[in-house]
Amino acid sequence: MVVFRRLIPLILAVTSLVVDCSDERRHRPPVAKHGSVHPHSEDEASRIATRIEELDDDAEVNPWELSGLFEGDMLLDPKHARNGILNETTRWTNGTVPYYIEEDDFTDEEELVILKSIKEYHEKTCIKFRPYQKNDTNWVVFRSNSSGCWSNVGMQSGGQTVNLQSSGCVRHGVVIHELLHAIGFYHQQSASNRDDYVRILWENIDPGHEYNFNKYNASDVTSYGIEYDYGSIMHYSAKAFSKNTEPTIEALQSNVTLGQRKGLSEKDIAKLQHMYQSRCSQRHESENSEPPGFVDQFNSMFGIIG
Ligand SMILES: [Zn+2]
Repeated sequence: MVVFRRLIPLILAVTSLVVDCSDERRHRPPVAKHGSVHPHSEDEASRIATRIEELDDDAEVNPWELSGLFEGDMLLDPKHARNGILNETTRWTNGTVPYYIEEDDFTDEEELVILKSIKEYHEKTCIKFRPYQKNDTNWVVFRSNSSGCWSNVGMQSGGQTVNLQSSGCVRHGVVIHELLHAIGFYHQQSASNRDDYVRILWENIDPGHEYNFNKYNASDVTSYGIEYDYGSIMHYSAKAFSKNTEPTIEALQSNVTLGQRKGLSEKDIAKLQHMYQSRCSQRHESENSEPPGFVDQFNSMFGIIG
């Protein structure tokens, strides 16, 4: 017993060393300025959570369409609601997005889903995600403590939340979709030229939800000269906000599917590259490989889950 007592300080010292190491690896950011307050009333939150939980992988509608915010999943400050992707202040500096995954909110498996989605951005675009570091002024924090899948559009000052409801939203395509909002994209069907490509079937839209089908002004939003993309991960499903399970959007071309949940389309990638080319090129050459902090996190999680 005496020996054990002598060991206690040693055990404590080792434990605190371990804790220090993990703190070193992951700095917890302060509370994010955007999205830290639950955006829904309690009743609404539980209704949204249930509807999303009930969706299976083949569901005709996308979970982000059921998330109860503007156009489903965009957390907008009303005074900024008119700012589009052409607003340069919402671009991430040097095309680098600091991120923090709130460990208490996700299982290891879910964390790996998030990290794999980030990896898709690293493999297909010039955007880099790296773990949050002390003194970062802008960052994305992944949380799961509210209902729904949602994000701000573009970089906000002082931290912003990407909320992924644990059951239903932590899926590859959903994470890709929400991150594309966080990077600076709106939904495809809100493009100013959309009426040349789709017809909105207003009579089938759930009354009171028509505003979700607004078009944006060409001075706020641009497609960078890239053609309308039916297969964008940012396109609503054909039955988004339907009151009667009939389609609310119809393609004007035959043989096309509206939207998908697999990953970035070729045109999504092209637009993102246009938006961030000049910023990514401002990075120091040594920062162009996959950020080591991300690689460590990915490998350690991959090692646990496989
Ligand atoms: Zn969305």
